[in-house]
Amino acid sequence: MDRRRFAQLSAFALASTQVRVSAQSNSNNSASGTRRVGIAAVGLGSIAEVFMRAVTATPNARITGLVTGHPAEKGVKFGALYNVPGNSIYTYETFDRLRDNPAIDAVYIALPNSMHCEYTIRAAEAGKHVFCEKPMGISSAECRRMIEACRRANVKLMIGYRIHYDATFRKLRELVRSGALGEIQSYQGGFYGMRNKQQWRLDRSLAGGGSLLDLGIYPLNAVRWFTGEEPEICRGLVATRDKGQAFATVEQSINWMVKFPSGILASGGSSYEQSGTNFFAINGTTGHLRLEPAFVYGDAILKYTGTAGDTELSGGGPVYDPDQFVLEATHFADCVLHNSQPATPGEEGLADLLAIEAIYASAGTPIA
Ligand code: NAD
Repeated sequence: MDRRRFAQLSAFALASTQVRVSAQSNSNNSASGTRRVGIAAVGLGSIAEVFMRAVTATPNARITGLVTGHPAEKGVKFGALYNVPGNSIYTYETFDRLRDNPAIDAVYIALPNSMHCEYTIRAAEAGKHVFCEKPMGISSAECRRMIEACRRANVKLMIGYRIHYDATFRKLRELVRSGALGEIQSYQGGFYGMRNKQQWRLDRSLAGGGSLLDLGIYPLNAVRWFTGEEPEICRGLVATRDKGQAFATVEQSINWMVKFPSGILASGGSSYEQSGTNFFAINGTTGHLRLEPAFVYGDAILKYTGTAGDTELSGGGPVYDPDQFVLEATHFADCVLHNSQPATPGEEGLADLLAIEAIYASAGTPIA
């Protein structure tokens, strides 16, 4: 599925959920009098649109600023949609003036991957909390700098791992960790079927790598989250059958295997040019589970089947646009309001980048 088709389906799904997405009030206080966290969206592309829509459905956050390279077009359009006044619309050049805007408590960074580090650090230095999209950066060194900048400025840093906030994933993780499938032996995951034609995604200097950083990061992160372990051995293989210029700097397809200290094995794959689905599978000694689709959102119902001993397992849940984003935005705002640690902090993004670097190094295409 290409991103245009995906966006169309997302819009279709939105139509059926719009009743839950309310118009944004123009006050940082909610109807019940509790404070709302003011968020500036940085980079007004496809995922920022979903996120901003999600924020209007939270009880504790609102969009109070915009940062865009196109203030006269996107700034005006989204400013009108979210009641953002002209003096809270910034460009990348005026970004640091966010510091002087008390209506903006935090930023949501939805830029190409290689820009996450710079804008996280600049936001922290301006005293703003940071919600940064995945992947956190394009190297572990960047992730460490981002964590340090946010620590020094005493601001929150959360990475947008939306599946951590999804009810189906949370339920399955609890089931697996309860021992219902016996001792877990292996995980398999994949994310196929998406065609990323936006130029930056195929440009290593902006994307940092190929589909692993964009799509394969989902099963990799899910395995780390479910096991609670960090891989001790990482292996990867990349391949590019398209001999044109499109994949001159990033891989077309990648498969990886990791081994955890407990002995659990995991394998995964992703590609920009393979038809296919997205799935997550778990094999234990006395049971197994398969979730498919697993990692998309917008027009999907996550479905799982499996067994736990003699018991048949099946179920799932919808992931309509922008449900998962509402949950993660609400959690982020909650962390800001109550000074608590996000469930997916910078350290989570760093751990993924360490594994990704090891996988790419083994594949012979080191990143960054
Ligand atoms: P996009 O191309 O739709 O948006 C990127 C935005 O960055 C655009 O507004 C663009 O104008 C701006 N930009 C600023 N400088 C740029 C430059 N030098 N080159 C290109 N664009 C530039 O991308 P997207 O799909 O919204 O992805 C943005 C980030 O969000 C990525 O890090 C991606 O991994 C992440 N993402 C997360 C999810 C999720 O489900 N959590 C889904 C999609 C994307």
